[in-house]
Amino acid sequence: MTPYEKLMARVQETQLLAGASSILAWDQEVKMPKGGLPYRGKQLALLAQLAHERSVATEYQDLLAECEQDPALTGDPASPQASNLRELRRSLDRLTKLPGSLVAEEAALASEGQAVWAEARKADDFSKFAPVLERVVSLLRRKAECFGWAEGGEIWDALADDYEPGCTAREVENIFTPLRERLSGLIREIAEAPRRPSDRFQRIKLPVDKQRSFVEELVGAIGFDFKRGRLDVSTHPFCSGNHPGDVRLTTRFHEDNLSDAIGSTMHEAGHGLYEQGLPFEHQGTPRGSAVSLGIHESQSRMWENQVGRSASFWRWCLPRLKEHFGGEVAALSFDDVYGGVNRVEPSLIRVEADEATYNLHIMIRFELERRMLSGDLAVRDLPAAWKAEYKDALGLDVPDDARGCLQDIHWSMTAMGYFPTYTLGNLYCAQFYEKADEDLGGLDAAFERGEFDGLLTWLREHVHEPGSSRPAAELCVHVTGKPLSADPLMRHLEGKLRPLYGI
Ligand code: ZN
Repeated sequence: MTPYEKLMARVQETQLLAGASSILAWDQEVKMPKGGLPYRGKQLALLAQLAHERSVATEYQDLLAECEQDPALTGDPASPQASNLRELRRSLDRLTKLPGSLVAEEAALASEGQAVWAEARKADDFSKFAPVLERVVSLLRRKAECFGWAEGGEIWDALADDYEPGCTAREVENIFTPLRERLSGLIREIAEAPRRPSDRFQRIKLPVDKQRSFVEELVGAIGFDFKRGRLDVSTHPFCSGNHPGDVRLTTRFHEDNLSDAIGSTMHEAGHGLYEQGLPFEHQGTPRGSAVSLGIHESQSRMWENQVGRSASFWRWCLPRLKEHFGGEVAALSFDDVYGGVNRVEPSLIRVEADEATYNLHIMIRFELERRMLSGDLAVRDLPAAWKAEYKDALGLDVPDDARGCLQDIHWSMTAMGYFPTYTLGNLYCAQFYEKADEDLGGLDAAFERGEFDGLLTWLREHVHEPGSSRPAAELCVHVTGKPLSADPLMRHLEGKLRPLYGI
């Protein structure tokens, strides 16, 4: 075996441990009885420790360094060899720059933080959570110092690298600033619009088992392969990919909200299609893995929004919906359904937000976490800053902290630098979709016939198969010919919402 072959064998073996962890974590959310919890915690902790030991072992580090010296491996930066070495080096640097004591401190704080946050949110009492959040901010500052950041950059950049490698606050700001202005303008116009779509579709009660069989058929129709995946139910929907042959989706159902089940399931199926489309031959190596959270999210939003909220999709889907449910559903018009899933309404809760206002929720969190990390905003002033931002961006009065700065779990589990990946996902998604639509000569006619394989094949070739061959920002330029911009997303939203609201 060559040193590179030895290195890959080792990396793929370590990945087996991660795959086993992911199945155990899925089982914990979906199947496991409560009594399994303490022992499951031990199983997961041991697997994580074994994977960590393998990932920092001297033998592994020497092997990686040896391969990096070989110009035949590193010459072409987009080759599988070069991208594997680049990504492995990045991960190793992240692992070795942090002292073990800080890793342990973060794990303990994340678990304490989540428990304290859950109580504080339930009691609507920010003062309960503030001391933990202060410790989170101070720990993350120390963590960022260990990693360092590029000249001209800032502390936020060092943390974002775990979620969106190479992404900087400055770049995010450059895209978010014009996006915020244009979105706010559109949302203001919608608020004063002469027409509003009806919400009849969202008010119909439907049995959960019937909803379940419907969404199962739906994700099969868009191309999710059930021979290589499953769909189950959990409190919070998620997708866990352990390898392209075994991708687990979960979703949720509410009797009175079929459109939520459709949206959530299409969303997770989008993540799942990405996982199923990663190249088998590179499985267990970075080249065969997803490139970033932003790109992952671009795939979920593709099927949830670009496809699942389009007029052409509903022209195909509505007759099926009527046939499946009958009753009140059979009386729905096209406008009830298409308009219903595209209603825009500023609201307090991020996870319930519509496609247009959603991004403003993200921008607020990005600004606030950035200011907390830089020391510009004291933790105790967060609730007031939150309220001011919601008033300014969405025109809303936030009545309490439970529906304000206590609503999201992320900061309590020490995840700062994460939120923007959601909006980056929307932006990447719109830019990829425009290109696919152009390359394929228009997708609407195919969607109306229930044909989604054209889009899926395009995504397989341009986004799924490449895995981590290029960093996200480069992938975007490579695929669309342009750097990421706010324009495609705004064209998408304005093009759909203006006619719908008669503006
Ligand atoms: Zn997602």
